[in-house]
Amino acid sequence: MSLAVVGSIAFDAVRTPFGERKRMLGGSAVHFSLAASFFGEVRVVGPVGDDFGDEEYAVLHARGVNTDDIERVPGGETFFWRGHYDFDLNTAHTDDTQLGVFGDFDPKLSEASREAEMLFLANIQPDLQRQVREQCTGARLAGLDSMNFWIETARESLLKTVAGVDIIFMNDAELRMLTQEPNLVRATRKVMERGPRAVVAKQGEYGAALFTADGFFALPAFPLETVNDPTGAGDSFAGGFLGYLASQGESASGDDATLRRAMTYGSVLASFNVEEFGTERVQRLTREEIEDRYAALRQMTLLDEIPAAR
Ligand code: AMP
Repeated sequence: MSLAVVGSIAFDAVRTPFGERKRMLGGSAVHFSLAASFFGEVRVVGPVGDDFGDEEYAVLHARGVNTDDIERVPGGETFFWRGHYDFDLNTAHTDDTQLGVFGDFDPKLSEASREAEMLFLANIQPDLQRQVREQCTGARLAGLDSMNFWIETARESLLKTVAGVDIIFMNDAELRMLTQEPNLVRATRKVMERGPRAVVAKQGEYGAALFTADGFFALPAFPLETVNDPTGAGDSFAGGFLGYLASQGESASGDDATLRRAMTYGSVLASFNVEEFGTERVQRLTREEIEDRYAALRQMTLLDEIPAAR
């Protein structure tokens, strides 16, 4: 299935206890598309400014990401996010968010993106996510991520957007905040009552849990001794998950074993992402390394009962 993503395309300034980068390629759509690119072609939709140069495009092109729907706005500035993490790497502290060219972005998708069979609405203003969802009439499966920033500033709009997608990817604190429900199981039910058929609750270094109407599956994160920068872990998870799902075709997307494998690929891609800053590790990643870590995670978690398949 063809796959498209809309979300932030950004420059990030990030400080963690283990180092700092003043300006590096980031953004939810970038992290997502790099992770998903290991399974097939991904089309990225979104605007950038003049400051987004050949070097940044080259990172995406090196992984075969299709950038035809990246709109370069003359005189504009690329989305900018500055954040830091203390010793608890599960919590990102936002110090600055500059929407730049996203401030008045009016998405007009190419025919190829409108016809994509799978769509990911990565973290960005929920009105924009919905506009893109409405244009993508070919999408048979749509996923969505968001964050506290949008739950606080655009909750009603986000709830409308949630109603138009199939799978939600959010961390457990965001799910509680969105639904105003302290119990996570009830929070996922409340989300599903609005339309989605599955919720992936991300739990940082503790892993992720998949809730469906009558199913539950939890997977620990791959145990890593070195974590330098968790930025983009959630998007890489979604990229691994949906990239794998897209590669399996439409009939597989509702199958429980396929969804569990998708969870495992999501976890694997997220684990590589956090080893280094920004996109640094994923830029050098190979499919072979992904398969090795997938096999290790399957063994650790007794997923061996599930027949091996790509
Ligand atoms: P995560 O996977 O949640 O760590 O997402 C990290 C990415 O989200 C960073 O590369 C940021 O550029 C991007 N980001 C941060 N704040 C926002 C926001 N309010 N809207 C969209 N993207 C954001």
